[in-house]
Amino acid sequence: MQEIVVASGNPHKVEEVRSVLGALGWRVLSLTDVGSGDAPEPEEDGETFAQNARIKALAYASIVGRLVLADDSGLVVDALGGEPGVLSARWAGVDGDRATRDAANNAKLLARLAGVPDAQRTARFVCSMCVAGVDARVIAQSEGVFHGWIGHEAKGDNGFGYDPLFRVRSSCVSGAELTPEQKNALSHRGSATRAIAHTLARLASAVR
Ligand code: IMP
Repeated sequence: MQEIVVASGNPHKVEEVRSVLGALGWRVLSLTDVGSGDAPEPEEDGETFAQNARIKALAYASIVGRLVLADDSGLVVDALGGEPGVLSARWAGVDGDRATRDAANNAKLLARLAGVPDAQRTARFVCSMCVAGVDARVIAQSEGVFHGWIGHEAKGDNGFGYDPLFRVRSSCVSGAELTPEQKNALSHRGSATRAIAHTLARLASAVR
């Protein structure tokens, strides 16, 4: 069984990737599983999701010396000219644990969209993924997009980040109301994971 390390400190992301890649026959490990839970986080100073995913994959591959998958993702809101984009994780500029930062980001999003009618509240999650090899070389990249819009109040208890405000496609169902299986079937991360798994399988059969 092929092993891959998901380089993220976000346990939700690791689980989302694990459930997709696990079903395709991969053994998915976290940084903690390989004794690198305290590895320093590289500076994500790219201007795009793809650049940041690449920065993370290369940095962690050179630290753990194994096949590493990294993702960079975020929310793109049309009425805000694409914000928060690559700044999604710390958009509100609040320190604290993940729940505190998520709550502040969601409050900022509602405030910035106050008075914006539903038809102009369109948004999408984007996930860029990169796999780097043991020799710290990029092996594969992929991208997934999840379209929806931003609701007027938080709903649901699943997921993380902006999920409670995100409305799936044109429905009134929030990302946080989806089961993990439903989210993986629709989401930016699920699509990007399936695409990169497909590329890795094609590369493996080409060298066999
Ligand atoms: P990253 O860890 O630098 O990729 O930051 C991604 C940020 O974008 C997260 O902290 C969330 O705020 C947001 N985000 C990305 N994917 C999702 C998702 O699936 N649901 C909700 N928020 C997300």
